[in-house]
Amino acid sequence: MLFWPFSKLGLSGCMFSGISLFFFMHFAVTSGFLVEEKALVLMTNYPLIDGHNDVALQLRILHDNRLSQIDLHNISRVATDINRLRAGHVGGQMYAAYVMCTAQEKDAVRLTLEQVDVIHRMCSEYPEFELVTTSHALRSSKKIACLISVEGGHSIDSSLAALRMFYRLGVRSMALTHTCNTPWAESSSEIYTFYPRDNNSLTHFGKAVVKEMNRLGMMIDLSHSSWDTARAVLQTSQAPVIFSHSSAFTVCDHRRNVPDDLLQALKENKGLIMVNLHSGFVACGAKGNISIAADHFDHIKNVIGAESIGIGGDYDGAAKFPEGLEDVSKYPALIQELLHRNWSEAELAGVLRLNFLRVFEQVEKVRDELKGTLPVEVQIPLSEAANPCRLVLRPPNQVIRSSSVDSSKVVCSGLHLFALSAVLTLHCFYEVVSC
Ligand SMILES: [Zn+2]
Repeated sequence: MLFWPFSKLGLSGCMFSGISLFFFMHFAVTSGFLVEEKALVLMTNYPLIDGHNDVALQLRILHDNRLSQIDLHNISRVATDINRLRAGHVGGQMYAAYVMCTAQEKDAVRLTLEQVDVIHRMCSEYPEFELVTTSHALRSSKKIACLISVEGGHSIDSSLAALRMFYRLGVRSMALTHTCNTPWAESSSEIYTFYPRDNNSLTHFGKAVVKEMNRLGMMIDLSHSSWDTARAVLQTSQAPVIFSHSSAFTVCDHRRNVPDDLLQALKENKGLIMVNLHSGFVACGAKGNISIAADHFDHIKNVIGAESIGIGGDYDGAAKFPEGLEDVSKYPALIQELLHRNWSEAELAGVLRLNFLRVFEQVEKVRDELKGTLPVEVQIPLSEAANPCRLVLRPPNQVIRSSSVDSSKVVCSGLHLFALSAVLTLHCFYEVVSC
């Protein structure tokens, strides 16, 4: 019966099949085109604010931070440059000032300062970039807004004064750990033996770090922290927190990802999980494709709602990405996939930028409410942060000597440095790809 008008017109079955196929193809192409257009319009109106990018690390590794030798519009052997950020409709990017864990107990603070410096230079020497330090400036920027985050608490060398100085240099987020424990917080990774612990995942000093970050208005980033540390922080922080580049543990059971109970706690905190696109975390090591990446978004939305989700691509911190998401120009393909999965434009506007802006504003609001609160003066006990490279300038009667270190005769021995450099060499490659 369905075919009768064609029969009346005298069209053969063969011709009908051809016409059907034409209309089907036309519809498919048109609807695909419409979704593609829709994604680009949406991203023009709501340019992406991405939570994590490691191009600064690559600038150090590949170019020794010599910006004069490269053109940031088009950089080879990396996944991020100005041309591709433009193509990806990126309107804001949190750039990680990251130094390897092997710098802990060594020169992590200097190295981190050098990474903050290169981000400052990158974002001031090119007119397409703009360094921002407030949610208002981020919201109103018409350029590629640069935010600075420190990736790993080892970068402050257990010093709240160092934390405060990083804030003054424009740092607006810090991950409490990278792949190593600090003396005061626990990592999700066990590849290093720094400061082993069975419990006390957030020490008294660790809570002081959280309190001081709340007071300063610096976002607390729980990506890379152990789940126990994350839970302790969620019970301590007055402000919303972020996972700047983590995905869903239920979809890929990697310890860098976030389990459902922690997602629930994050929702209560009104915080944000910015989904990591690295194959290792979305496809558990396989290369994967856009669909498996989108599964993480669907799962987190089902558990805690779209308003708790952002994107933290992790480009240039990881080597392998799903097919179709190889560099920062590919974000529109992800948004197309989510549109195909019936995500609303309002939900995606949130994922792209509004959710992050809301969290940043709330962090600033808590800072404003704490105005008048004095800086935290808690110092880490020497017995908890003892290492041979730490000079202690306290009166002898206040020095607490650990069993292994005589703080009054601090020596950063040649042998010690040799051992550290050997470890650095061994772990260097691993760390570059262990985002
Ligand atoms: Zn990372």
